[in-house]
Amino acid sequence: MRDPRPGLAWSRRRATRRADYATWMASAAWQQRRRQWLASWTARYGHPPTCQACAGPWNLHDGDLHHRSYARLGHETDRDLVPLDRDCHQRLHQILESNPAWGRLGRPQATDLIIARLRHPTSPRPDHEDTNDRR
Ligand SMILES: [Zn+2]
Ligand SMILES: [Zn+2]
Repeated sequence: MRDPRPGLAWSRRRATRRADYATWMASAAWQQRRRQWLASWTARYGHPPTCQACAGPWNLHDGDLHHRSYARLGHETDRDLVPLDRDCHQRLHQILESNPAWGRLGRPQATDLIIARLRHPTSPRPDHEDTNDRR
């Protein structure tokens, strides 16, 4: 497995972004955004959300909202957020982080492709990707 050896500037930018992310995720405003997101989803589709990977039940207490994009962190649009249960969310991140090629695709597209793969786990996967020996 290749190690991309990112440059220092990139790492620092990423560390800052991570800190912003952690602060936002821990905020009351994010909890409020989650409730808003749920209301908006339910109004749009006429039923509560399900996990987009396995179609299992999703609720505010147990469910995660994956960021398809961090471009609007703190003022996400509805489409920036994808409902996933904890297990599927964890699997998505394992795949996303297992191969730098996903990063080069761009996060929104990588998210969509990985979710499609989680929905259909028998679809062919690149042989250089290892998702089993982690965690
Ligand atoms: Zn799921
Ligand atoms: Zn996520």
